[in-house]
Amino acid sequence: MGAGFSGIGAAIRLLQSGEDDFVILERAGRLGGTWRDNVYPGCRCDVPSHLYSYSFALNPDWQHTYADQSEIWEYLRATAERFGVLPHVRWSHRVLDAAWDDALGWAVTTDRGVFGCQYLISATGSLAEPSTPLIPGASCFAGTVMHSARWNTSHSFDGQRVALIGTGASSVQIVPSIQPTVEHLSVFQRTPGWVLPHPVRPIRDWERRLFRLFPPAQRLIRALTYWQREVVLVSAFTKYDGLRTALERQVRRHLATQVPDSELRAKLAPDYQLGCKRALPSNDFYPALTKPNVELVTEPIARIEPEGILTTDGELHLLDVIVFATGFHVSDNPIGEHVVGRDGHRLSEAFSGDLPNYLGTTFPHFPNFFMLTGPNTGTGHTSQIFMIECQLNYVLDALDALGDGPDAVAEVLPSVAEAFTEDLQRKIEKTVWASGCASWYQNQHGRNVAMWPDYTIVYRRRTRRFDPDDYVIGRRHEETAAAVSMA
Ligand SMILES: Cc1cc2nc3c(=O)[nH]c(=O)nc-3n(C[C@H](O)[C@H](O)[C@H](O)COP(=O)(O)OP(=O)(O)OC[C@H]3O[C@@H](n4cnc5c(N)ncnc54)[C@H](O)[C@@H]3O)c2cc1C
Repeated sequence: MGAGFSGIGAAIRLLQSGEDDFVILERAGRLGGTWRDNVYPGCRCDVPSHLYSYSFALNPDWQHTYADQSEIWEYLRATAERFGVLPHVRWSHRVLDAAWDDALGWAVTTDRGVFGCQYLISATGSLAEPSTPLIPGASCFAGTVMHSARWNTSHSFDGQRVALIGTGASSVQIVPSIQPTVEHLSVFQRTPGWVLPHPVRPIRDWERRLFRLFPPAQRLIRALTYWQREVVLVSAFTKYDGLRTALERQVRRHLATQVPDSELRAKLAPDYQLGCKRALPSNDFYPALTKPNVELVTEPIARIEPEGILTTDGELHLLDVIVFATGFHVSDNPIGEHVVGRDGHRLSEAFSGDLPNYLGTTFPHFPNFFMLTGPNTGTGHTSQIFMIECQLNYVLDALDALGDGPDAVAEVLPSVAEAFTEDLQRKIEKTVWASGCASWYQNQHGRNVAMWPDYTIVYRRRTRRFDPDDYVIGRRHEETAAAVSMA
């Protein structure tokens, strides 16, 4: 389910292993997930390009050291085509629900019919469902409303009075991109983010030539980038407070240098630990906020009126457009309610804390089911594709271990999943993510269900091999297995 980096990666690895009896069910008419949907101005990866790509398909032609949305989308399209994935995709097939049946396996209902399968891989993305806060009066607004992940590309912002709600990762990219042409920009901030200097630059022709002629050079840069982030950032976020506070001092200098006005600077200074929320690389967000046509609003929003936004101090901010840069349904992704395992268990329980998981990938009561970018597989410092590839190693090894027959059934032992999940939650308590800030990494009970609390190399080691002893492995009856295979 899903044709983003996870689904396309799964398809490539299946094809490479000689398996071609699969389909990808994708709700949209084009692949790409995140990089298809986030077309807002300034959208750019905040992980270096050489690292943000599949390990088996490096791209010597990146134009920037941190690629923008269109480059990444093009890379993913070209890679899917090159590896022969496209014939396997069923476009415009939205998965409505998926249910396990002990006799028949998985039945996946889409808006275009039902698919039966022996194994189900969920790749529907953790940042795929835009979240918009419920603000009284929102439906009465007379102007244009959009979410950053559903950008209306035909709307011209030139000369408009715009509100941008939120100051997270998308907002810091949108603000400097639209500030020069709008009449007025009101940026509504609840909590300031840590904004880091951004080392983005164009990649030079000779560098691209070198990577094309001598691929080990790019591999070396990729490895150095990976290890630098791993050693410095994971250590700072999970182990060494001293390292983190040293980084915080550097980042505060960025704010001090870029924002001379002390009143504005005070509003922008974070009062929680660096890394607790996603850090935000940008060289032009702070300068844009200092421009005369931009106002940083920290007063809470009371309601939306037809003409604009009313804040609790009684001021009405007159507007033509409201942009919600308010993130995604992460722990409450609606698909979780619609994937149903044995005995009526729902995938959403894995995010509410009611169902343990193993390696963020498999779940008790969910036989033959693998989730990519599942609970606690997120990273705040490195490429998500690294984690996805670790999971793919594990899934491919599992399929290999379970053999070719159409009747194998594997379900992770509850004791294994419980031990893993408890250990992981204990580790999180010692990291920056448990240091007191509220973030989208947490579910409604404050439990962190998003972040991997250790070096990603540890995750890689743990996902290298599928161990059958961690699972109950059985067989379905031959007749029912044959029926599944025909379906
Ligand atoms: C704005 C933004 C910036 C980001 N920047 C970075 C970054 O700098 N570094 C980083 O490592 N990560 C970043 N990420 C995270 C990014 O999501 C992952 O790196 C990666 O793209 C996830 O790929 P995916 O395939 O798991 O999910 P997605 O890319 O979300 O793909 C999921 C796919 O599943 C499909 N789908 C969903 N539901 C259904 C359904 N019911 N039926 C059928 N199909 C369905 C969707 O249409 C989509 O195509 C960013 C995310 C966002 C939103």
